[in-house]
Amino acid sequence: MAEVSSQARPRSVRDAEAPCACPACGSSHIRLFYEVEGVPASSCLLFDTREAALACPTGDLRIGFCSDCGFIYNTAFDARRTEYSGRYEETQSSSDTFNTFHRDLADRLIKRYELAGKKVLEIGCGKGEFLLLLSEMGDVEGVGVDPGVRLDRIDPSAKVRFVADFYSPSHNSEAPDLVVCKMTLEHIPRVLEFMTTVRQSLARNRSAQLFFMVPEALRILDDCAFEDIYYEHCNYFTSGSLARLFRRAGFEVQRLGREYANQYLTIEARLAPALSPVVLPEEEPLAELASRISTFPARIDAMRAHWRSVVDHARSGRKRIALWGSGSKAVAFLTTLGVGDAVDLVTDINPVRHNHYMPVTAQRIVAPAELRSLKPDIVIVMNRIYREEIATALSAMNLSPQILCLHAS
Ligand SMILES: [Zn+2]
Repeated sequence: MAEVSSQARPRSVRDAEAPCACPACGSSHIRLFYEVEGVPASSCLLFDTREAALACPTGDLRIGFCSDCGFIYNTAFDARRTEYSGRYEETQSSSDTFNTFHRDLADRLIKRYELAGKKVLEIGCGKGEFLLLLSEMGDVEGVGVDPGVRLDRIDPSAKVRFVADFYSPSHNSEAPDLVVCKMTLEHIPRVLEFMTTVRQSLARNRSAQLFFMVPEALRILDDCAFEDIYYEHCNYFTSGSLARLFRRAGFEVQRLGREYANQYLTIEARLAPALSPVVLPEEEPLAELASRISTFPARIDAMRAHWRSVVDHARSGRKRIALWGSGSKAVAFLTTLGVGDAVDLVTDINPVRHNHYMPVTAQRIVAPAELRSLKPDIVIVMNRIYREEIATALSAMNLSPQILCLHAS
């Protein structure tokens, strides 16, 4: 059992002038609509000791909505509190479900953009899995930039070059045919400035294509997915706000899509020859988004109360809870709900995470095989897309706990 409770303290929601202008459009018309104090600032970091996990830096969530462009962001975000390095463990490549999706996505991009023999620059390539897939499946020359890339895990025979750094104008000489940026833009505080840098990087190949993927925020708003609102994600995009950002940065938006059971939002774009006024049908109207924002505080309060009661009920019945998944969603579950001292077990299929400790709440991350002896009564699945995979694994261990999923509908 964790020895300390979460430091997170949900605050009452209030309308207030946010402390900084919208990073996507410069407007000062920002409405704060969701606040939690003292959440872990680095929810994917691996901590070797309980003491180090307890000492994980924290920060506040003060999520604001720009009524001029629809951009949603943490107005209290401070990049100095986060750490992206080799001990940042975000990979999902231990999951068959995710790997199947990744291969399918690589296959579609290779065909759509006829990538054989071409150059792909991936900004925020993580541990490099997707670029290596493109290289293997499509004979692609790859360059990956990410401060957390682990060169020691890369096969030296791969046709991909990795740069362990943040993306910056110094990488503009790469002249890529396709720029890929997956699950990264939501981490970047000065987002319009970043997109302007990307536009400048295409000066040597003005026909280059862009493929970006981010978490889809309409689902977060509709499902009240509190586990998907955490410190490293300073930005939350809808199809409308993402497309508006791209147009403002000088791109023509060609396609908006959703992937992975609508959890991810994708955008494909290229340099616009002139200011591009074309709005795609997938972009939700600003008024519709504002309406969702206005009802969100009451709805998410109810959602958090529900899950707190699930945990309290289990605890009073002396039932043992295990969270399946130890990444950002589990960190947010433990800290946003303030149930860090009531959840005994956290497991994960990624072996790199085993025997490390959860930030702030300090549970040891156990291998799924340890559940055989630890015998949880309830398993809470952090991402419902893995429910069948997890149920199969539990069954193979002759375990039959109650399985609950967040937002199972
Ligand atoms: Zn704005």
